[in-house]
Amino acid sequence: SAYLPSQEDTDNDRQLGLYHIGIQKKWPDIENIRLIWHYLAFDRELVSYRTPEAISKLIQNTKSLIDEIEATHDFPPRESRLCEWCEYPDLCPLRKHFIKVETMPVNEYLNEPGVALVNKYVALKDEAKKVDQETEKVKAAILDYARREEVEIIKGSDYKARVRFDEKLRFPGKNDEERQELDEVIKQAGKWAEVSQLDTTSLTHIVENSLWSKDLIDKIMNYGRIEETNSVSISKLKEERK
Ligand code: SF4
Repeated sequence: SAYLPSQEDTDNDRQLGLYHIGIQKKWPDIENIRLIWHYLAFDRELVSYRTPEAISKLIQNTKSLIDEIEATHDFPPRESRLCEWCEYPDLCPLRKHFIKVETMPVNEYLNEPGVALVNKYVALKDEAKKVDQETEKVKAAILDYARREEVEIIKGSDYKARVRFDEKLRFPGKNDEERQELDEVIKQAGKWAEVSQLDTTSLTHIVENSLWSKDLIDKIMNYGRIEETNSVSISKLKEERK
């Protein structure tokens, strides 16, 4: 490995702890089990000892993990460096399209519906980005024109543009320095309830990660519902994957 773990990592390493349990089971008379990781690249040996308490905690945690795995029906794929050694890329939803198209001749490849859709989506997104940038420039020019000519409506061939210069009251944003001070002023005045409302993004995070008691989360879940969502995100392929 290119990474040398700390003593704390070594003492918490599950694999070493499981070796301890295995050795203890096979040779019950052995005392003082010394667990050693050999890090050849660093010319270091990392030694760990486990107390009976640490071993019973590991057994408990491992049993809960086994229960959790056995109760799970959904196994979403998790991409990692280990994918390079995976024997099931042709079944994996993250890899199987690569496998499907990698041996296709160029013509067939470019007409494959998935490849064609992604290429079209990327081209349209690029185009939309350019149009957005151009639109912002034209909007700034319209505002300039209206100021210069002192007009509020500018006539085009088929449309007209109405220009308004208004003033808007703004307060410090969530991450601005003064925000905390502002919150305090309102709280101390006893007016917080009039201007605050539930942050459902934080609530979702709390519920999904079970950060509150089960009782409370169960009550809250009477109002929650699972909705299907979707997204398409684009990222550039690494050279070797093209
Ligand atoms: S390629 Fe294999 S290891 Fe990687 S996410 Fe898919 S199934 Fe898991």
